[in-house]
Amino acid sequence: MEAIRLREPCLVVLVGAAGSGKSTLAAGWFDDREILSSDRYREVASGDAADQGASDEAFRLLHRDLEARLAKSGSAIVDATNVQPFARRALLERAHAAGVPAIALVLDLPADVVLARNAARTDRVVPAAAVRRQLADLHRSLDGRGLPPEGFDEVYVIRTPEALDGLVLLRGSAPVSPRNPPR
Ligand code: GDP
Ligand code: MG
Repeated sequence: MEAIRLREPCLVVLVGAAGSGKSTLAAGWFDDREILSSDRYREVASGDAADQGASDEAFRLLHRDLEARLAKSGSAIVDATNVQPFARRALLERAHAAGVPAIALVLDLPADVVLARNAARTDRVVPAAAVRRQLADLHRSLDGRGLPPEGFDEVYVIRTPEALDGLVLLRGSAPVSPRNPPR
């Protein structure tokens, strides 16, 4: 079991391909109002969570709400793939502007696990070719030891399904913060 203690407030940036478990992890440890999900903003922008053409507007809204949330000293977790450096940079800039620590939580599970979990999803299956592109982007971002700091205060890389299952997030000074039940 790995326990990660998060200072509060903080910005957690999830990094991982579709199917790597980002939304499940976010929902397990954060409240709805803390979770900024690109899929949800695509739905707001265009009525369709899968509409990649809505990405510009979706991220404009996501960044706007992130700034507002950090300005109020609230913690936030960004549930988006964030496999490309420019996506992470846009989030880091907002954390730095607000003086809030930024933590990268990278889900670098084996490709076969990610592809199988994406294919088995009950909500929305992302085309396998798109998942492979995301995995390639992710791996370009990583060096032998993980994600280079890039300006993050802390970087954690989860590499196995077992490590993901055993991951515990401790919020602030709370001794144990129970995981939210699955929805
Ligand atoms: P995302 O695309 O990165 O947001 O991934 P999701 O959170 O939607 O997870 C993708 C699929 O994997 C879903 O069907 C989840 O139920 C499943 N999943 C996520 N995390 C875990 C896990 O820790 N263990 C197992 N067995 N399945 C998981
Ligand atoms: Mg998701």
